[in-house]
Amino acid sequence: MRPEALFDYFSDIERLPGIGKRNRQAIEKLAGTRTRDLLFHLPTGLIDRRYRPTVAAATPGSIATLEVTVEEHRPSQNRRAPYRVICRDASGELTLVFFNARGDYLRKQLPEGEVRLISGKVEHYLSQVQMTHPDYIVAPENAAELPAVETIYPLTAGLSGKILRKAILAALESVPDLPEWQEPSVVAREGWMPILDALHAIHEPDGPEDLAPRSKARRRLAADELLASQLALAIVRERTRKKRGRRLQGSRHIRDRILAALPYKLTGDQKTALDEIVGDLESDRAMLRLLQGDVGSGKTVVALLAMAAAVEAGVQCALLAPTEILANQHLETLQPLAEKAGLRIALLTGRSKGKPRQAVLEPLAAGEIDILVGTHALIQGDVAFKDLGFAIIDEQHRFGVQQRLALAGKASAGIDVLGMTATPIPRTLTLTVYGDLDVSRIMEKPPGRLPVDTRVVALDRIADVAAGIQRAVASGARAYWVCPLVEESEKLDIAAAEERYASLKGMFGPRVGLVHGKMKGAEKDEVMARFQRGEISVLVSTTVIEVGVNVPEATIMVIEQAERFGLAQLHQLRGRVGRGSGKSSCILLRANEIGEVARARLKIMRESEDGFLIAEEDLRLRGGGEILGTKQSGLPEFRLVDFAEHADLIELARDDARLIINRDPELKSERGQALRHLLYLFERDEGVRLMQSG
Ligand code: ADP
Ligand code: MG
Repeated sequence: MRPEALFDYFSDIERLPGIGKRNRQAIEKLAGTRTRDLLFHLPTGLIDRRYRPTVAAATPGSIATLEVTVEEHRPSQNRRAPYRVICRDASGELTLVFFNARGDYLRKQLPEGEVRLISGKVEHYLSQVQMTHPDYIVAPENAAELPAVETIYPLTAGLSGKILRKAILAALESVPDLPEWQEPSVVAREGWMPILDALHAIHEPDGPEDLAPRSKARRRLAADELLASQLALAIVRERTRKKRGRRLQGSRHIRDRILAALPYKLTGDQKTALDEIVGDLESDRAMLRLLQGDVGSGKTVVALLAMAAAVEAGVQCALLAPTEILANQHLETLQPLAEKAGLRIALLTGRSKGKPRQAVLEPLAAGEIDILVGTHALIQGDVAFKDLGFAIIDEQHRFGVQQRLALAGKASAGIDVLGMTATPIPRTLTLTVYGDLDVSRIMEKPPGRLPVDTRVVALDRIADVAAGIQRAVASGARAYWVCPLVEESEKLDIAAAEERYASLKGMFGPRVGLVHGKMKGAEKDEVMARFQRGEISVLVSTTVIEVGVNVPEATIMVIEQAERFGLAQLHQLRGRVGRGSGKSSCILLRANEIGEVARARLKIMRESEDGFLIAEEDLRLRGGGEILGTKQSGLPEFRLVDFAEHADLIELARDDARLIINRDPELKSERGQALRHLLYLFERDEGVRLMQSG
């Protein structure tokens, strides 16, 4: 149960003043609909209204608050001319300018002969001092309505800053303080204020220094968010580790057969990674390891050999993939080798129904299947293994804690879990995303890979690009054409892809195909298969091909509006080519006009193929969680952390979480109770539920 003190934090924002149905919808898009969502919507800047010069002394272009007497209204003579109000102080005259004004309203706001505080941007026009549409017009007795320092928030269509600000301030007043969950010595050392005070400080800043990532308030909030996430991960880890692992000691005979059948030798990194994984299998500690390796680095074969070792020791294995396409592809790659080595392998996805499904479930329960490859369909209730001992989760960051636990629930004893990821997460972030687990890295690429020739081309040269592809296709090449990512809407992504498909169809006729995320699985597979067989030469897609797809014959990758993608994602997309022996190229089509950071980011792509370096550089340039394309990758979202600025807090949170779990694993102490609040507030409460489930 969520602690009572948090009820108001989770109540709907509709109860706040100024929030009707429409505004609620706009805020939902922006932040969410609970009070806490609004409180975590941080300002990005501020307007300082404390500059109070005389009219004559006010610097043109500045934001100023002027105290003037209203002298005369000069209504507009025709519809296009503005309505003017002449005001004055001892130093000179100020003209207020209003377009499309309602005279009666202005007369009420600015009665002739009265004094008003006027705040807005000062302009000089033909030696007159004027202000067009002032931000504030306030009578002196209501001076408190004029904020000295006004916060600026990210907005969305149909929502005004004033409404949002008012709602946030009301939200701040509507919630109680919470018990202190941070370690007292840290609070003392850092000089942190309680969380509610920190929120107040940020939403009602005294100056820009309060909003800087290094301000005490910002650091406190970042530390809270990080501690919540580290603690949740620590609880899960503790749970997994508590169950003793089994010693899975294989005889090597299946592994030897696979190695003999491989047309190549393992790279040094592959061998090291495999040794580490097998070491975990053989120990009595439950494995919790991440295998990290760039696209094309050869993780699949390492996974197969590791599963073979587990099967030798007499248990079954599961390989969990995030999409049907990937699950299918894993099966296709693994099957030939598995068969040669005498491993029994099967596929189970959401599409397996009725008889075919039974044809997998029965032998699975009887222990006649060694390796089950599948999507999350694999963790459903009626799927029973005879003896599941080892699970591999591909693209692990796409699965939540819940799913990982469900998988563990399929095993009678402690299960060994290996995550795999190609997302080049910088070291500083691995900890944040995965917590404190063991990591094996494959840095070295299999030999013989040719570098991918990457070019950045402006969109107005798209016709040249298409013509170039036409020539390449005529001599047998295959190309991917990835369409832009339109924020907030998959529908728009698809529309863009369909449009491009239609225009390329004019050039390529039936040799162009389209796949996107809303297509039915079978339809998608059919198009992919035709591309694989070479019946389609140009595959237009949204980012559904992002992970894992393997068509070695494809040598051209075009990415439209590349500047909109995260670098990690561009890198993954580019990894789809350069897999075979042919020379490959990647064309990053950019908007004709792009900013400096965007330019620098694309330059990194042109100059490097090292996923980790790219990720580090992207982090440096953009400084934030954006780097991982959080929305696309399904990584937990961080709203208060600035990864470039708060790096030191990550380790602090990790160490603290570890200590907490050692000292008070059930979170029963006074601080433990406070920490439960923290977990709920940041919606990392799987951890709490887990403790209660025993
Ligand atoms: P990942 O899953 O890490 O993106 P894959 O496992 O799909 O990469 O491997 C990419 C390609 O490299 C596959 O075609 C695989 O057969 C090949 N490969 C893997 N290891 C080696 C190696 N040591 N030498 C040569 N080729 C390899
Ligand atoms: Mg792979």
